[in-house]
Amino acid sequence: MTSHGSGNPTTEEKVMTTPERPNVQISTPGLASGTEAAPEATGEPIMNLSGVSVYYGGYEAVRGTTLPIRQNQITAMIGPSGCGKSTILRSLNRMNDLIPGARVAGKVSYHGHDIYAKDVDPIQVRRHVGMVFQKPNPFPKSIYENVAYGIKINRIKGNMDDMVEEALTGAALWEEVKDKLKTSGMALSGGQQQRLCIARTIAVKPEVILMDEPCSALDPIATGRIEDLMYELTRIYTIVIVTHNMQQAARVSHYTAFFTAEVDENQVRHGRLVEFDDTSKLFTKPTDKRTEDYIAGRFG
Ligand code: ADP
Repeated sequence: MTSHGSGNPTTEEKVMTTPERPNVQISTPGLASGTEAAPEATGEPIMNLSGVSVYYGGYEAVRGTTLPIRQNQITAMIGPSGCGKSTILRSLNRMNDLIPGARVAGKVSYHGHDIYAKDVDPIQVRRHVGMVFQKPNPFPKSIYENVAYGIKINRIKGNMDDMVEEALTGAALWEEVKDKLKTSGMALSGGQQQRLCIARTIAVKPEVILMDEPCSALDPIATGRIEDLMYELTRIYTIVIVTHNMQQAARVSHYTAFFTAEVDENQVRHGRLVEFDDTSKLFTKPTDKRTEDYIAGRFG
């Protein structure tokens, strides 16, 4: 495995085009076309995975993952289906705790603190490290209530109307819904529902947002809006995204982790991190042959 941190993010413009969005010049973040540049990100790791393996019962689904998650940056996880991307993503906010029989070995730290330490409350972890799921999942409540819900249960102090507006504005949804806040969240389009879920997540002011294939249920226009929004969100938040769409990883992320599944001597498949690097470098000069084959579409 060649997993290595990659120093400071590049400031050199690396423009990529994607077959899915023809004639659109897409920059890696910090450089997104048509968007004002984000403030200089520190790029310091806010989270670190160190030798993380995740088990479902006796099955080791992912082995020994070591990876930094850098602040105010977007880290993408790519790789073929079943290689453990979602499993590793869930280990970052203890969502695997909710799966009977799941167990995490190794260390996941947040600001240097082990999030699996005995005295750590997983609910507090999830408050700091929020999650957006593949399928938009608004509650069957009004748009306003969808956003206010987390604020109420977390007893966050402040003016509720202002906090709801702030979250909806942050999720680039306010202008579209400000006159119908009492309408059901379920009545929105798929893309709007996903932005509502992002508003719900940011309403409780996390530092890190995990996104598990957030655009896979959306059309290309809605996907583009979420991608633009992700870039905007890095002004405040750190994002980790699992995507099966390599072009999306190339478009939106600063760093990419490529996973694959290896078959052991007992013919059991285990997910492995193959390579982690600057997105621009991983897509143009991968160091591992498996990464090169994957991004060239030769497998997976
Ligand atoms: P990916 O996100 O890369 O598609 P996953 O993390 O979903 O991969 O899955 C990695 C492996 O763990 C797969 O073999 C999958 O079948 C297994 N797995 C995932 N979730 C569970 C679960 N809840 N219970 C048992 N096995 C699981």
